[in-house]
Amino acid sequence: MAAATSTGSALQTYEQVAAASNEVAGLLAKRLKSETQGEVLFSAADKGRYATDASIYQVTPLGVFVPQHAEEVATAMAICRDLKVPIVPRGGGTSQCGQTTGVGLVIDHSKHVRNILNLDISAGTVEVQPGMVLDTLNASLKKHGLWFPVDVSTSAQATLGGMAGNNSCGSRSIAYGNMVHNVLSAKAWLSNGELLDFSQFENSSGRAKQIGEFVKHLAIHHQAELQTRWPKVLRRVAGYNLDIFDNQNVRPYTHDGKVNLSHLLVGSEGTLAMTQSLTLKLSELPTSKVLGVVNFNSFHKAMDSAQHIVKLGNGTLTAVELVDRTMIDLSLKIPAFASTIRTAIIGEPEAILLVEFAGHDKGKLKAELKQLVALMGDMGLPNSVVEMVDDAPQKNLWEVRKAGLNIMMSLKGDGKPVSFIEDCAVPLEHLAEYTDALTQVFQKHGTKGTWYAHASVGTLHVRPILDMRRDGPHKMRAIAEEASVLVRKFKGAYSGEHGDGLCRGEWIEWQFGPALQQAFAQIKQHLDPLNLLSPNRMINPPKMDDTSLMRFGNNYKIIPIQTALDWSAWNVHNDAATEQTTLPGTGQDPAQGLAKAVEMCNNNGTCRKFDAGTMCPSFRVTRDEVHATRGRANTLRLALSGQLQGGLESPEVQEAMDLCVGCKGCKRDCPTGVDMARMKIEVQHHYNEKHGLQLKDTLISNLPRYAHIASQWPGLMNLRNQSPLLAKLAESLTGLSAERSWPKWKKDHFFNGPPVGVSSEEVLKASKPVVLFVDTFNGYFESENAWAAHDVLSAAGYQVHIASRTKQDTPGQHLCCGRTYLASGQVSKAKEHAKALLEVLLPFAQKDIAIVGLEPSCLLTLRDESLVMGLGEMAETVASKAALFEEFLAAENKLGKLDSLKAKLAPAQKPILVHGHCHQKAFGLMPSVTQVIQLIPQAKVDLIESSCCGMAGSFGYEASHLEVSKQMAEANLLPSIRNNKDACVVADGTSCRHQIMDGTKRNAIHVALLLAQHLPK
Ligand SMILES: Cc1cc2nc3c(=O)[nH]c(=O)nc-3n(C[C@H](O)[C@H](O)[C@H](O)COP(=O)(O)OP(=O)(O)OC[C@H]3O[C@@H](n4cnc5c(N)ncnc54)[C@H](O)[C@@H]3O)c2cc1C
Ligand code: SF4
Ligand code: SF4
Repeated sequence: MAAATSTGSALQTYEQVAAASNEVAGLLAKRLKSETQGEVLFSAADKGRYATDASIYQVTPLGVFVPQHAEEVATAMAICRDLKVPIVPRGGGTSQCGQTTGVGLVIDHSKHVRNILNLDISAGTVEVQPGMVLDTLNASLKKHGLWFPVDVSTSAQATLGGMAGNNSCGSRSIAYGNMVHNVLSAKAWLSNGELLDFSQFENSSGRAKQIGEFVKHLAIHHQAELQTRWPKVLRRVAGYNLDIFDNQNVRPYTHDGKVNLSHLLVGSEGTLAMTQSLTLKLSELPTSKVLGVVNFNSFHKAMDSAQHIVKLGNGTLTAVELVDRTMIDLSLKIPAFASTIRTAIIGEPEAILLVEFAGHDKGKLKAELKQLVALMGDMGLPNSVVEMVDDAPQKNLWEVRKAGLNIMMSLKGDGKPVSFIEDCAVPLEHLAEYTDALTQVFQKHGTKGTWYAHASVGTLHVRPILDMRRDGPHKMRAIAEEASVLVRKFKGAYSGEHGDGLCRGEWIEWQFGPALQQAFAQIKQHLDPLNLLSPNRMINPPKMDDTSLMRFGNNYKIIPIQTALDWSAWNVHNDAATEQTTLPGTGQDPAQGLAKAVEMCNNNGTCRKFDAGTMCPSFRVTRDEVHATRGRANTLRLALSGQLQGGLESPEVQEAMDLCVGCKGCKRDCPTGVDMARMKIEVQHHYNEKHGLQLKDTLISNLPRYAHIASQWPGLMNLRNQSPLLAKLAESLTGLSAERSWPKWKKDHFFNGPPVGVSSEEVLKASKPVVLFVDTFNGYFESENAWAAHDVLSAAGYQVHIASRTKQDTPGQHLCCGRTYLASGQVSKAKEHAKALLEVLLPFAQKDIAIVGLEPSCLLTLRDESLVMGLGEMAETVASKAALFEEFLAAENKLGKLDSLKAKLAPAQKPILVHGHCHQKAFGLMPSVTQVIQLIPQAKVDLIESSCCGMAGSFGYEASHLEVSKQMAEANLLPSIRNNKDACVVADGTSCRHQIMDGTKRNAIHVALLLAQHLPK
């Protein structure tokens, strides 16, 4: 049989589309708009955002289509067929090999096409649409004691369609197999529009049967090659699954040996058919798990042991996962992970293996754990196993392991760990030899790699550090060539987990040989004769090191700009072999470090998750790529590198930044620490320079300046709140929503009330000194919080000094951190205010006196933005002593300094429900809030699992943001409060309290007030 698809014809499609893109794109967009209700995204920024995935590649598509429902996928396909435009199916876009990058129309299923279509509990099956995210599915299955067990590390953002596309594999594949072992059927469109049911071959009919017969014939024809060339490992995801008719996998695809045609589509990376729905086999959710952490003093020994460990468990062994020394060291440096990793290690191991047993009988599992201990003893490693029987420590350790790649990716500078040989799979008996040899290959090329992941199945993740702007592509080719020799020597699979895409397409023929490659081409031709579905990927692929397809390709250049904030910490070089970075500011970034900070985003898509943490509220509400941290980072990268006209000041950048609430969720939750809140300040600064300020920004930012005057006229100032007409008028003038009440001005407030606290001279000499920084909001609008903080601190025996201006300053003005200016990008004004504040606070900080604040966003400005506004050492000194009220008290309590306060506090009468301000969460300060509340006898505290409240300073007040703001609040926060009618609600953020009042008519209070309410009157 001859392959009908020739390199020439496929490339023709590719090039034709690229050349004729303007005309074709216009027609395509027009038809999509008129024939569907879906989103038709054809702007340069939209295309740029969808030009990448979690790989090193970038290929700009013709356009992007986000269908409203499944039928619109068929319509879009028909239009593409008419116009001969290739189609690139997409889920979460977390592929590591460039599978979702292509020149045609990208169809994003993740926003709307994501429902459960049919759940059959008794049969243990579920039919889902392709855009459904794995964690969402598993959350809904939990109550039935079921789960879909292909637990990829990206489970919070990977879609089932994408998982099937890549034949994804989870940490527990030794027990459950890969995606291919768990798909029961697929309904899918061929590129000619036919919708077929791909399921059991023996029951198939019509076109599906014909396809089956065709593939069967190929398998028979190539039987000899199939049997000799096919890797005999569990983890082989390259090429098409021709072996469905002649199983070569160590784990047969079906339990009864019958051929299932859906398995032909699994792993085909969207090149054969477009999935409409998948029927999946569910597994029982184990009720018990135990974990043995084996500590090794040699990496080689760890690798060599895996083959023996996998024989344990009598069917209960579910995972053997590696964490190496570098990963352990990196984890120890990350506050969120340090204590967890310490629970797992004995001394200073070179590697640990996480060995999990799961089932329903904890007693039996404990016995298996003892077998592990005994085995390690027999292997000369007595006392090497940390036994984890309780669930909590196990869960925590798995979180560290799951974050493995991300921990590694936090390296600053141009050298980055690059994915291209990171999932080669070798038989376990060769694992030690393979890893030793590959480590030497890395050394030879002046780099190194960190090893982790699936020791149970011989698939270890490793990414050598390469600088893709310089010699990276060249080294990548050389390392890949040498790695492939090792893979062949050990009879492994070159592509064992993350698929082929652009990175490994060319290696398919290397793996299987020309005859099988020819068979694959025939399969492609048979199913997609029009060559519409992701052409030039698995068949006729480009070279992996074609730099014209790379994100940081030959022409990638940063446009020089003068930044307002200091980004020099990112402006560094790193050494690939030692991972040492040069001094801040030495990285030669023409954007002074901003570009390198933006480029920290590696597109892994963690910001598309919906579970715990804060990141990213605007994506959670909209599900739009543009409104995810990743979408923003990509937009900024395009702007800074001249790929977006108008650069940082362009409307496209404004659009991407518009719904960023500056919550800093990404600063903490993004694995590589992309700090979009800070970037937004920088962007707004540049935008203002060009376009000037809007009235609302002037009004809000200057509030600290005019507050002392406004507060003298509360009647007048509050009129707007009482008159709907005035509110409407104000909305039309300022853009601030008439639906929102504005904070209420009071004539009598903290700043003009009776002086409290001790003088600056007294506090400097005091035995228990503390300085209280009262911000604009707590001072003018909610003075009771400031007084409460003073009372609580005094009751605890502290001499409290209220930070205030010296006489020479403008009289009547309080101190301000500059936050309101930062919110609208007015960095120089913010700096003025911050400087005045720092000058006042410095003498106390120099004397080691704590500076305590109430409003998280204000106080934490001292620990964040103040440090990058060019305020020098003064800012560092003050930052080192600045603490939130609750943070200070929690720390003091640990030192046993709050006994007198505790003795005074009356027992709690009500349950207490806490909502954390995003900045509190970003700085990891929520534990201190709950600890401080627990100073109150009998306090029963519950933390609301919420992201941003949606008010976020002035964001929720703006008419254009009102709906999004409410949706953010309704995601979790407000329903939790409504469901806890009797609870006292604590929220330390001014705007959070406002949002809670607006949405539930409940009065939330600051933790300082809560404590004060429990003091004797
Ligand atoms: C940090 C990190 C960790 C990872 N860990 C793992 C891991 O543990 N195990 C693992 O296997 N992978 C892992 N991956 C790779 C990736 O996350 C998985 O392959 C994931 O399943 C992809 O899902 P997605 O929704 O992002 O798919 P996408 O990347 O959007 O798409 C994947 C493929 O499916 C195709 N596709 C999507 N929808 C359809 C459809 N409707 N019809 C036809 N084809 C379609 C696409 O064209 C593409 O070829 C990891 C990636 C990262 C960045
Ligand atoms: S912003 Fe962070 S979390 Fe989101 S894709 Fe980029 S690196 Fe990942
Ligand atoms: S600051 Fe908040 S809203 Fe903005 S990108 Fe980061 S997580 Fe999203």
